[in-house]
Amino acid sequence: MTARSDDDLRGLLRRIDGAGYGAYQEIRGRYAFPDFELSIDHVQGDPFAAPSRLRALVPQSAARFPEETRRGKSRSVALASFLACAFADAAGRVRGGRGSGKSGIVEIDRPGQEVLERTAVLVSERFVEARFVAGLPAAGRRILGREAEAMLLGDLPEIVRGSLFYASNDPAAIERAVLANEDADFLRAALDSMGLVAFVADDSVLPRRSGVDDRPLAGGAIPFESPPSLRASIDLPNAGRVTGMGIPRGVTLVVGGGFHGKSTLLAAIERGVYNHIPGDGRELVVTDPAAMKIRAEDGRRVEGVDISSFIGGLPFGARTDFFSSDNASGSTSQAANIIEALEAGARVLLIDEDTAATNFMIRDQRMRELVVDENEPITPFVDKVRILYEEKGVSTVLVAGGSGDYFDVADTVIWMNAYVPIDATAEAKAIAARYLGERKSEDRGRFGDVAARVPLPESIDPSRGRREVSIRVHSRHAVQFGEETLDLSAVSQIVDASQTRAIAEAIRHARGKWMDGQRSIKEILDAVESDVARSGLDVLSRYPVGDLAALRSLELAAALNRLRSLRVKRP
Ligand code: ADP
Ligand code: MG
Repeated sequence: MTARSDDDLRGLLRRIDGAGYGAYQEIRGRYAFPDFELSIDHVQGDPFAAPSRLRALVPQSAARFPEETRRGKSRSVALASFLACAFADAAGRVRGGRGSGKSGIVEIDRPGQEVLERTAVLVSERFVEARFVAGLPAAGRRILGREAEAMLLGDLPEIVRGSLFYASNDPAAIERAVLANEDADFLRAALDSMGLVAFVADDSVLPRRSGVDDRPLAGGAIPFESPPSLRASIDLPNAGRVTGMGIPRGVTLVVGGGFHGKSTLLAAIERGVYNHIPGDGRELVVTDPAAMKIRAEDGRRVEGVDISSFIGGLPFGARTDFFSSDNASGSTSQAANIIEALEAGARVLLIDEDTAATNFMIRDQRMRELVVDENEPITPFVDKVRILYEEKGVSTVLVAGGSGDYFDVADTVIWMNAYVPIDATAEAKAIAARYLGERKSEDRGRFGDVAARVPLPESIDPSRGRREVSIRVHSRHAVQFGEETLDLSAVSQIVDASQTRAIAEAIRHARGKWMDGQRSIKEILDAVESDVARSGLDVLSRYPVGDLAALRSLELAAALNRLRSLRVKRP
């Protein structure tokens, strides 16, 4: 079918004016506007339902983004993210409110502080494609054709022309965005050869405006300043030479008084697996892409995880080499979170005392004397953190203001003092030497292999009632997956509801394509990752949608592991 014109769309809208809402189905299809193409992919069932899905495709011959704004993945992802914001801003300037319910709204999935690959805007050599939703206007269930005309032939071209063309944007802002993103990717890729797991550039701004506002603290933030002995420098392709604090591989301890910025540093490192927009303050806070935040999460379900590295015989003979629980404790949940992260390929663990189970982290000498070994099933993390690095190459960055036990096992000790880091490694080691022998290690030798698990496909069911697939993302931390409500509130490196949507869709995709009762979780994660690498995020959805964002295998695994219905077996 050849594309119809914008005038054809106008004619159609005039014809269905006043008709029942169902007549909107007729406008599905593609329309050639003078300088772009509008594709109406899905039309909502009524004005209160989820809005209709549309796309605008602007050929590069008209959009004219110079090659250097989109060359290579780092730049094109940044440009796409920038344009999604521009589109959202332009959509915010048109009026909306064209009738009942969602009539008149035009919305795109607006990126936050992180720069993620998204399906909201796609940039290629040939096109700029924006995917968005629109509420088709009605009064009650009567079509308001004139309003629809004003919206689709007035507002919409204005939004598209105000955002998706190079000439409609500030070229300097685009340049900043793409160059910053390229530098961040370059830096992250260089970490390994620098022997680092994270880099925090000097002058970074780490604190956020509030617990619910991820923008930088507006006034009074102390800029980051690296301690000379931990200072690293690198030549970035665009910003040139930058210096900052390098966190080396191994075991790193962050200490310091309360309210001195320890958790803020760790949170920035946690988010450093993603890039940030210019002005965020964390543009050059960059972490190993396989770093995983670990915390205690009592109450979560755990399925068939071998936590015997940490936890021996439980009361009443509960198995720990294939541990399952509908209501894990603080310590067993934290042990499971670590083993699951290792299973999924984590290379760095990030732990904050604020959200860790104390009895999992340490046990002091007096307690060791009272509750002797055979009655205490837990080998605390302090006795495993070194062997984890030596045997598996998995580093740990740990915030601990309350216990010096970790001095014995740390390679690097960073003391946060009034938001300024000090290298306290030598002092901490000297103190540890004075108490040598006082703390008896309970290390029982090897860390042990992480046993593979095979998910049983029949235990994962995205259907609900008569719907074969029912996936609803309520927030970045809550998903309705089939009959089940999936709680991801402890998975802190999910930063966006669009990531959550991609994760939930990826579980469905993996269930249909890869879970066969034979493949292990790791094999399934790798298969999904290569599907996405090869075909883009669209491979995860059944039709083109504009609200998916890049996911990591680590979070996909975390979500799968938190499905209460999940059942696994050993291969
Ligand atoms: P800790 O974990 O050491 O107790 P936090 O990291 O929670 O401390 O920080 C305490 C407070 O200080 C938070 O409100 C945080 O936003 C603020 N803060 C952290 N770093 C800085 C900084 N560099 N400049 C200004 N305020 C900061
Ligand atoms: Mg803290």
